[in-house]
Amino acid sequence: MLLTITTTHKPATDMGYLLHKSPDRLHSKELPFGTAHVFYPEATDKKCTAALLLEIDPVGLVRKEKGSTFSLEQYVNDRPYVASSFMSVAINRVFGTLLSGKSKHRQELVDAAIPLEAVIYSLPCRAKEDFLRELFEPLGYAVEIAPTPLDPKFPKWGNSPYYTVTLRKSCPLRELLMHLYVLIPVLDNKKHYFIGDAEVEKLLHYGEGWLKDHPQKDMIAKRYFRNLRSFSRMALDQLKDDASLEETEELEGEKTIKADAQEEALEETLTAAEPEEKKTSLHKLRHETVIAALREHNVSTVLDVGCGEGKLLRILKKQKGLSKISGCDVSTQSLEIANERLQSRFPKHGELEIELFQSALTYKDKRFKDYDALVLVEVIEHVDEPRLPALERAVFGAGVRVVLVTTPNGEYNALFETLPAGQFRHADHRFEWSRKEFEDWGTRVASSFGYEVAFAPIGDVDEKLGAPSQMATFVKPDLKEKIEQAVK
Ligand code: SAH
Repeated sequence: MLLTITTTHKPATDMGYLLHKSPDRLHSKELPFGTAHVFYPEATDKKCTAALLLEIDPVGLVRKEKGSTFSLEQYVNDRPYVASSFMSVAINRVFGTLLSGKSKHRQELVDAAIPLEAVIYSLPCRAKEDFLRELFEPLGYAVEIAPTPLDPKFPKWGNSPYYTVTLRKSCPLRELLMHLYVLIPVLDNKKHYFIGDAEVEKLLHYGEGWLKDHPQKDMIAKRYFRNLRSFSRMALDQLKDDASLEETEELEGEKTIKADAQEEALEETLTAAEPEEKKTSLHKLRHETVIAALREHNVSTVLDVGCGEGKLLRILKKQKGLSKISGCDVSTQSLEIANERLQSRFPKHGELEIELFQSALTYKDKRFKDYDALVLVEVIEHVDEPRLPALERAVFGAGVRVVLVTTPNGEYNALFETLPAGQFRHADHRFEWSRKEFEDWGTRVASSFGYEVAFAPIGDVDEKLGAPSQMATFVKPDLKEKIEQAVK
C-alpha cells in the first residue's frame, strides 16, 4: 500500500515540518495490522515527496480475522496490497499531529494552501471510474486516473478494479489528509478494519468543514459505514443538523445499534483488541485503588466509563454502601460480555441498581450527570490526543462530584524487559504519559473545570521511574466540604 504526496511549495522540505517526520531518515511505526513507513524519495528546496508505505502483516490478519466469508479468502485476498481502511488508520496514527491542526511555532504554515499532488496506488473502485471523479472533483481536485490491467500479458482480459489515482490541488496539507482519511475507505467494498470503534465521531471530525456540502455526502456516509445502516443514519442526521462536534449533545444509545450492526461491530472490536499488559495483578490493584478512593469520598452512585468487560463492576457489585453502579463503553461486544458476567457470577444485590449502556466518552452524554463519581480506568490512553478536549468536555463538563482517572506511567516501560524501547504496552494505546505529562494534563483540566486534583502511584514504586500506573483523583471542592461537614 503506497501513498505519495509531493509539493513544490518553497522551501519544499517544509513538508517534513508539517508531517512531523524529518526528510533525513526512514520513520517506521508498528500498528495493530502491520508497519507504516514514512520516507522521502525526493527532498530538495524545490520539490519534496513524502511516501507512506504500509506493510500489512497478512499472517497477523488471518489470526485476528474472525469473519471471513470463505476459508480461502484468508489466504487469497487483496488486503496487503490495496489502499483500504488500513491506509486511513495509518494516516491517522502517523500524521495525527498535523491532523489535529495545531502547531506551536508555525501555525501559518499548517493553515497555508500549498501546491500538492497526491498519488494513491492500487485504489479499488468497483463502481464506474466516474465515481472516483464524483468523490474528488467537488473538493476542487484535478483528478487523473490510470487503470491497472488485470494482466499486462493479456490485454484482452481488460482492466482490474484497481486504479492509480493522482490528485492535484493547492490547499493545506491537513485538508488533503482529511479527504483521504474519509474517502479511501469509501471506495473499498470490504468490511472496514475499524468499524464499531467510535467511527461516527471520526467521520464527523475529519469531515468537518467539507462533508456536509459534498454532493455525494449520503453515498459517502453509507459506504463509509457499509452494512451498518444505523451508524450511517446517525452520521447523516448529525450532518443534516449542521451540528458541530462541540454541539453534539448526545450519542444515540444502544437502541440505534440494531442486531446486525452489533454483530459486525462485535467482530471488528475483536480484531482490534489485544490483551492489556499481562500483569493481571496490577490491573486488580488499579481496581482496588479506585474502590478505596470511592469509599474515601463517600460515593454511592458510580459510572465506570470505558468499562470494557466489566471487571471493576464485578468487584463493585460485592461492595457495601453503593446504590447504583453503571458501566458504559463504545464497544457493544465488551458490553455484552460485561452483561453476561454481571448476570451470572453473583446473585443480584437487593437494592443495588445496575445499568450498562453504550456511549462514546468523547461525546457529551446527559446520563453522565446522574452519578456521584465517574471512573476511567486505563481508558484515556485509547483516545487520540487531538480528541482529548472533547473527552474533557464530556467527562469533566458533566460536573459530577468525583472523577477518577488511571493511566499507565510511560516512564516505567523501561522496566518491562520484553517491551522494545519506544513501544507502548498495548497496540491500541495512543500515548503513554510520564508522571509529569499526566500531572500537567490533570492540573490543567482541574483548573478549567473547577476541580481539585491529587495524584497517586499504583503498583510498586521504582525510585527513578515511579510506579507502573498512576491515578488522578478530581474532586469538586465546594461539594467536598459539604460532604465532609455532613459526615462530621
Ligand atoms: N476500564 C476497563 C477497560 C479498559 S480498556 C478495565 O479497567 O478493565 C479501554 C476501554 O475503553 C475499552 O473497553 C474500549 O472499548 C473503551 N474505549 C476506547 N475508546 C472509547 C471511547 N471513545 N468511548 C468509550 N469507550 C472507549
